Amino acid sequence: MYKLTNPYDGKLVSEHQYLTDIQSTQRIGVSQETFARWSVLPLKERLKFIKTLIFVLTKQQQFLAETCTLEMGKPIKQSISEVKKCGLLCQYYLDNAENFLNTKQIDTDADESFVTYEPLGVILGVMPWNFPYWQVFRFAIPAILAGNTVVVKHASNVAGSAKLIEQIFLEAGFPEGVYQNMLIAGDQVENLINNPIIKAVSLTGSEKAGAAVASAAARQIKKAVLELGGSNALIVCKDANLDDVIPIAVNARMQNAGQSCIAAKRFLVHQSLFDEFIARLKEAVQELKVGDPMLKDTDMGPLARIDLAEDVEKQVNRSVAMGAKIVTGGKRKDAFYEPTVLIDVTTDMPVFNEEVFGPAVPVMPFDTFEEAVTLSNKTSFGLGVTVFTKDILGVKKKIHLFEEGAVFINAMVKSDPALPFGGIKRSGYGRELAENGIKEFVNVKTVYIK
Ligand code: NDP
Repeated sequence: MYKLTNPYDGKLVSEHQYLTDIQSTQRIGVSQETFARWSVLPLKERLKFIKTLIFVLTKQQQFLAETCTLEMGKPIKQSISEVKKCGLLCQYYLDNAENFLNTKQIDTDADESFVTYEPLGVILGVMPWNFPYWQVFRFAIPAILAGNTVVVKHASNVAGSAKLIEQIFLEAGFPEGVYQNMLIAGDQVENLINNPIIKAVSLTGSEKAGAAVASAAARQIKKAVLELGGSNALIVCKDANLDDVIPIAVNARMQNAGQSCIAAKRFLVHQSLFDEFIARLKEAVQELKVGDPMLKDTDMGPLARIDLAEDVEKQVNRSVAMGAKIVTGGKRKDAFYEPTVLIDVTTDMPVFNEEVFGPAVPVMPFDTFEEAVTLSNKTSFGLGVTVFTKDILGVKKKIHLFEEGAVFINAMVKSDPALPFGGIKRSGYGRELAENGIKEFVNVKTVYIK
């Protein structure tokens, strides 16, 4: 039995018990049995359940949002937006899944040749706590619509939210075993991957967990999709309008207390704008309402766990010891870490060359665009980059220079059901969302008839 406490006030939220290995093996047996029926159901029939799921999500929105806020400290307005976004994702696949999964006729020297997309079986998702609903939905919905069944090992610190997801699938009428929650510890995952019932795995989380899961999958010659960390740059060119940039930059770094893989974690600002940018950023960051995440007007709550806030504190302190200067913030109280801005940063400092999973941002000046690109690429990660500029045509010609899974111009990097999402380098491999996402866990079957 382990206890979950609210990172806001340290109070007990709930108690949970991990499944034993025997129980988890039984559960995936149910998923396997259900797969035999689910996979042969016409897609139109599967889509009907998604329609009901959207209805249930809307009905349970407040409860889902409050549970996640209690467990990991996300401000309630952001938790509600997250639940709504899950509904939008369902609607997107409702509108597009048939088109994506249709048999594709291909012109060859055969009398007839085509490609079909068939489900693989039971797919395992290993999911993180930072977007407890969204991360799971973007893995599970396309996998399920493609005809797979899924089991999800969610992060231990959002066990209540994890159970609710299974409940809403059942409430929406999905047959038992299409979606199952697996309340197990990280070290029980390999055992699952080794089970022949599990056909592939998708993990969102840290590099450490990703490497462990991908190695286990590789040993069994099973496919893995990895969505790991990021250290996105946000580049402010000399022609950018700071009135537009500042609110987006603050949101891009501070949303969800900075705990997002695609958050803008390094600000690179043209030297002609640097002083004004810092002054305005400082003002905007100090205006953020930090406090009780259950209150509607709170912008930032605590981090999800005290150890995560301590990690950020250490990264900032080590950078300060190396010569960085704190413009605002820099203090921790329990799981709260102040929104923090740093200058005088060099590329060898932790706040630049490690992923900072919290509300602290280094700001560095640059001179030429090429210099900004070099700084942006000077990270082991490759999820996304934002460029603010009026010269859209000029920057479009240079998109290939960025070692990233996504380039956003004049907007923060965000996930959108219609756009492929994923990274390169140590940010992982594979793609979620859009057509690419629904085709990650299918057998692309070639048929040739002469
Ligand atoms: P983890 O990567 O440890 O957790 C993500 C998921 O992986 C959880 O379900 C976790 O389970 C599971 N897990 C952990 N270790 C293993 C393992 N060896 N084998 C299989 N599954 C495992 O994230 P943390 O909570 O420790 O956060 C640490 C850092 O990870 C953050 O500071 C951030 O840098 C990064 N991170 C990145 C995310 C992203 O969106 N890309 C999301 C979350 C974290 P359990 O909770 O039971 O340990």
